[in-house]
Parts: sequence; C-alpha cells; structure tokens
Amino acid sequence: MISSRTRVFALVGDPVEGSLSPPMYNAAFRHLGLDCVYVAFRVPPALLREAVRGVRAMGMGGLNVTYPHKVGILPLLDELHPSAKEVGAVNTVRNEGGRLVGFNTDGKGAVNFLKGKLGPLRGKRVVILGAGGAARALAFSLLREGTQLTLLNRTPSKAKRLASELRRRGGEVSWGGLGREEVRKALSRADLLLNATPVGMDREGETLVTSDLMHGGLFVMDLVYHPPETALMREARKAGARAENGLGMLLHQAALSFTLFTGKRAPLEVMGRALRGKP
Ligand code: NAP
Repeated sequence: MISSRTRVFALVGDPVEGSLSPPMYNAAFRHLGLDCVYVAFRVPPALLREAVRGVRAMGMGGLNVTYPHKVGILPLLDELHPSAKEVGAVNTVRNEGGRLVGFNTDGKGAVNFLKGKLGPLRGKRVVILGAGGAARALAFSLLREGTQLTLLNRTPSKAKRLASELRRRGGEVSWGGLGREEVRKALSRADLLLNATPVGMDREGETLVTSDLMHGGLFVMDLVYHPPETALMREARKAGARAENGLGMLLHQAALSFTLFTGKRAPLEVMGRALRGKP
C-alpha cells in the first residue's frame, strides 16, 4: 500500500511511454515487501534541471536515466561514481541524503548477462558496432573482463577516439568503419558481436550485418529489443550463431540499479517475468 512513507523512484527520459522499467521494479518491490514505488516521467531536455531539483526537493530515492538525458544529467549531479565517470554517462542516480550520486550500470549489466550465457569472458574477441554511449559502457566493462575489442562505427573517427581511450587503460583494441570487408575481417576471428546502435529498432528488416559475414561459433547480442527478434538476430541464426536481444542486458543493468537503490539483492526471476509481461 502506498503511504506517506513510501519511497519514490522514477525513470526520466523522453519518450518514456511503454517503458518496461516500472513493471519490472514494482514487481521486485512487491516481491520483497519494500515500501517503494517506481514511476516514469517524460522530461524534455529543457526541463531536466528542474526535474533533478525536484528529486532533491521531494526526497525521492533515486532515478534511472534514459535517452536523451544520460549525458546531459552529468553536470546536474553532486558526485559521479567511477562507473559513470569513465563512460561519461549516467543511467542511475541515487539520492544519498540530498546528495545525488550518478552511476552507470549498463556495461556491468551487459557483462553479467553475457557471463551467465557464456561463462568467463577473458580472452574472448568481441566486435562492438557503434561508438556512442552504450558502446562506451560495454567497452569499458568488457575490457575489465580481459576481452580483446574491435570497435566498428559509421563514423570511424569516433571509434578511433574511443579505442585510444581504452588503449591508454592497457586494452587490446582495434577500430574501423562499417564497410563489408572490414566487418567480415573482424567477425571472422570474433567470438562475440554486440550491436550498440539503434539500427533494427522498430524497423523491420534493418541490420548492419548479414548472415554471410557471420559464422556458427559467434554469439550475437543486439542491444535493441523492440522487436523482440531483430533482423540482426535472424541473420545470426541463419549463420548458425546464437543470438539474444537486449532484454537480458536491460534486466541485469536494472538488477544492479535495484541493489544501489535498496541495498538488497535483486529478485532476477521476478523482474525477468515482469519484463516479459508475465508478472
Ligand atoms: P548513441 O549514444 O546515440 O549512439 C548511437 C550509435 O549508433 C553511434 O555510434 C552511431 O554512429 C550509431 N548509429 C546510429 N544510427 C546509425 C545508422 N543508421 N547506421 C549505423 N550506425 C548508426 O546511442 P546509445 O545510447 O549508445 O544507444 C544505442 C542503442 O543501444 C539504442 O538502440 C539503445 O536503445 C540501446 N541500448 C540498449 C540498452 C539495453 O539495456 N538493452 C542499454 C543502453 C542502450 P555515429 O557515431 O556514426 O553517429
């Protein structure tokens, strides 16, 4: 029952309609009997500063942050955890007695999901499509796991810049563009392919990589999860590869945020069922 003591958490983004986060968190709060509630607020960029002030003013427990605010929120917070600082983006804000601390759980969430599927990632060769916020989060976390990375981006200079940053941390990182031959060469030696671009989202048939460039030993994760089976996943399966959409990563990053919010281990099963619309 919602009462005067209920702690309020929220997603802020634009748009947020149809977000799976409220059912997922509320199912977890209910399951553990926590006096918390999770809502979603559509906040246009021009009002983000006001929204963040509101979190402090109203003593909300915390936020999840999604498109287009993951970078814009940085200067509005009191402190950044290293997970957010290295990526340069925030997906979780915890209200610590009026001080707002930004975290990023996207990369570690993806790693936890991939480890659940594949076991230890050390030594695996990973190709990441994209060099935006999600690719950055993946790359820093995967590097920590001891993987070898190839970053392929439509704008190769952005992949190059990210590769340089990662190399300064001692990583083995190559970079390139999205030309067919570049993709073929990178994938011929790869264990994992991760799509960290929006290509394939809500658009039937759109994919950056086709089956003839993949092999059966590849594990493919498309960060996109709408539609649940993307064209990239279909192409991967045609090549005999295993393929997953981005719901697993979404679940695992939310589980980490849940622990940051509540101090409790997240009930993954319950949250997973809510994500699949089976609360
Ligand atoms: P972002 O920062 O805007 O970066 C977008 C990236 O995609 C850039 O590298 C961009 O290349 C590339 N790109 C965009 N349109 C393209 C096209 N038509 N062809 C080729 N490349 C294209 O976005 P983001 O935050 O990284 O998000 C990327 C995707 O990941 C989104 O679909 C988002 O929903 C998804 N995501 C999923 C999860 C999850 O939990 N499953 C978590 C985070 C993000 P340029 O540099 O050339 O512009």
